[in-house]
Amino acid sequence: MTDTFLNNTLTDISNKGLRRKIRMISGSQGRKITIDGRAVLNFCSNNYLGLADDDRIRTAAFESIKEEGFGAGASRLVCGNLQSHARLEEKMAQFKGSERCLLFSTGYMANVGIISSLFGRGDLIFSDKLNHASIIDGILLSGAEYKRYHHVNMESLEAMLQAAPPLARKLIITDSVFSMDGDIAPLPEIVALARKYDCMVMVDEAHSLGVLGKTGKGSVEHFALEGQVDIQMGTFSKAVGSFGAYCCGSKKLIDFLINKARSFIYTTGLPPSIAAASLKGIEIIESEPDRRQALWENTNFVQRALKSLGFNTLNTNTPIIPIQVKDAQLSVNFSEKLFEAGIFVSAIRPPTVPVNSARLRVTLMATHTQDDLQYFLSHVERIGKELCLI
Ligand SMILES: *Cc1c(COP(=O)(O)O)cnc(C)c1O
Repeated sequence: MTDTFLNNTLTDISNKGLRRKIRMISGSQGRKITIDGRAVLNFCSNNYLGLADDDRIRTAAFESIKEEGFGAGASRLVCGNLQSHARLEEKMAQFKGSERCLLFSTGYMANVGIISSLFGRGDLIFSDKLNHASIIDGILLSGAEYKRYHHVNMESLEAMLQAAPPLARKLIITDSVFSMDGDIAPLPEIVALARKYDCMVMVDEAHSLGVLGKTGKGSVEHFALEGQVDIQMGTFSKAVGSFGAYCCGSKKLIDFLINKARSFIYTTGLPPSIAAASLKGIEIIESEPDRRQALWENTNFVQRALKSLGFNTLNTNTPIIPIQVKDAQLSVNFSEKLFEAGIFVSAIRPPTVPVNSARLRVTLMATHTQDDLQYFLSHVERIGKELCLI
């Protein structure tokens, strides 16, 4: 009975060209990675600044392991709150210019815990249609009314706000950089609408921490909106090259989450070495602006080149560059042909993106060399022509 269900579902997924598989990477995460024994150029990692295998981050983790051991042993509310956790929270509050910070084990858990503890039945949550799955799951778990506005469309958002009961508790929530499209949410307009209609604002900085803003603090810095976003959530798993997530906000907000966020309360604290590694990553982001500059030089170069070749890169203006393919199977063929040429870019298909909008999701790194980029572009051009995409 169960077997039939599993088989039928998997066959159905395969028939649609949507079967997923996990590839084995050996060695560490960098601009080159080894997959199934083969070294390939990596163009699909969120390790934007090349920090995931940085020696200083490795050392910070080793030092913590020597001093604090590995496992945290319990929830942070019981006896699993170690010094590295506190140091990172203090650093993040200062870095983001917030009163206080709270760590979560992952970005997924942060979104689910923050949203579902703060909002519930009778409340309304206005969410961009392309927000990350973890935001959607947090909203569904909360039981609040889920209002999806058209992607980055402020008229759509305002029409929904106008129709909402004025006295209800309301939240507008958005990714700062959309993870599959690479465009940036119009945060100034969102904040203005939130004021006008008395809503809270929450932003997910997963892809903007270390990438956007003059000093890498993310989209709030990019738009000079310090002090105007109630809840700033982000992750250490992307540009910071580590793992885990944070929520920055007022002292009251953090105190509330410590008492109410179930994904914080009912889970073991992060291994302290992970917090120590994240802290080192943030310090490197602060002290080495050249990395961010190199990332943006690579980004601008590849964006321009792909556009002039005639690819549809949607509205990206970040290191996440989609190459629109539409057909799911064709996107897989594209990815496989690139792999044969020694380039790894994964195909992104529904349900991660809407039906008929399959794409290659190219991500750039600060550590890609000019040779890497030229090599990548020459093969993308060749295969794009073979597949009649350009
Ligand atoms: C990656 C991502 C998350 C999840 O973060 P993890 O730490 O990997 O669980 C949440 N939101 C956005 C926008 C993301 O891109």
